[in-house]
Amino acid sequence: MGSNSMRVANQPSTANPQLAAVPPPAYQRRLTGLKPVRLTMGSISRPAANQPSSVNHLLAAVPRQTYQRMLPGLKPVHLTYGQVLYEPAGQIEHVYFPNNCLVSLLTAVDKNRTLEVGMVGYEGMVGMPMVLGIGVSAVRALVQGSGTAMRMTAARFRAEFKQNLPLQRALFRYTHLLMAQVSQTAACNRFHRAEARLARWLLMTGDRLHSNEFRLTHEFLSHMLGLRRVGVTRAASDLERKKIIDYSRGKIRILDRKGLEAAACTCYRIVKNLQDGMQA
Ligand SMILES: [Zn+2]
Repeated sequence: MGSNSMRVANQPSTANPQLAAVPPPAYQRRLTGLKPVRLTMGSISRPAANQPSSVNHLLAAVPRQTYQRMLPGLKPVHLTYGQVLYEPAGQIEHVYFPNNCLVSLLTAVDKNRTLEVGMVGYEGMVGMPMVLGIGVSAVRALVQGSGTAMRMTAARFRAEFKQNLPLQRALFRYTHLLMAQVSQTAACNRFHRAEARLARWLLMTGDRLHSNEFRLTHEFLSHMLGLRRVGVTRAASDLERKKIIDYSRGKIRILDRKGLEAAACTCYRIVKNLQDGMQA
């Protein structure tokens, strides 16, 4: 876990109790009383200078009073690597506002293959069909990095969403962002080289887990990127040779973030700039 000494001056708040000594901005104060829970994967190795908050940005966008009113309907939960939140055509029982966990949205290509079409972390919500009044998921939602989230039942969310204008506004903006990410990912999967796609994927994952180090198997990555395992190995080896990452025993470490950005296709920057611009 990151220690206080690693914090940088402009680092936003975190739910991590070790960092509670630092004066929290308003949105963190709203979250006092929520119990932080242990991470089992994707824990912070070193916070980056531009590290975003590890509380959910959509909930942070809601005014304090409104948030207090919502609080009894929000349950802090720990989501674990490999956990499936929804299956395609499955009922959405809960929506999730991730803090520092990462959820992949996967489309089934056939019986054995899936492809990642989107990724949700602290910037978003899992269960977006609910915003459109639809209670069924089109994709598989798979927890790809363990961590905490705030969970709300679908019924409660439906009622809340109807009357909560700030939440509506935040979710409409996020709908736009997610659609942009999904469209960019579709183009990326078709046109960009494996190494550049892997680099993009590692950057997006690292951002959401607030970490430069995470566990991943080649098999998992091949599902995420729609590559054969040999393709994943080749792409990872290319990045390793350039000393951008280290990949051993199922653990990936980003050694050179700037190098990784340079190796990634433009898709990473396009979506990141849109996200940063919307949060500014
Ligand atoms: Zn791309």
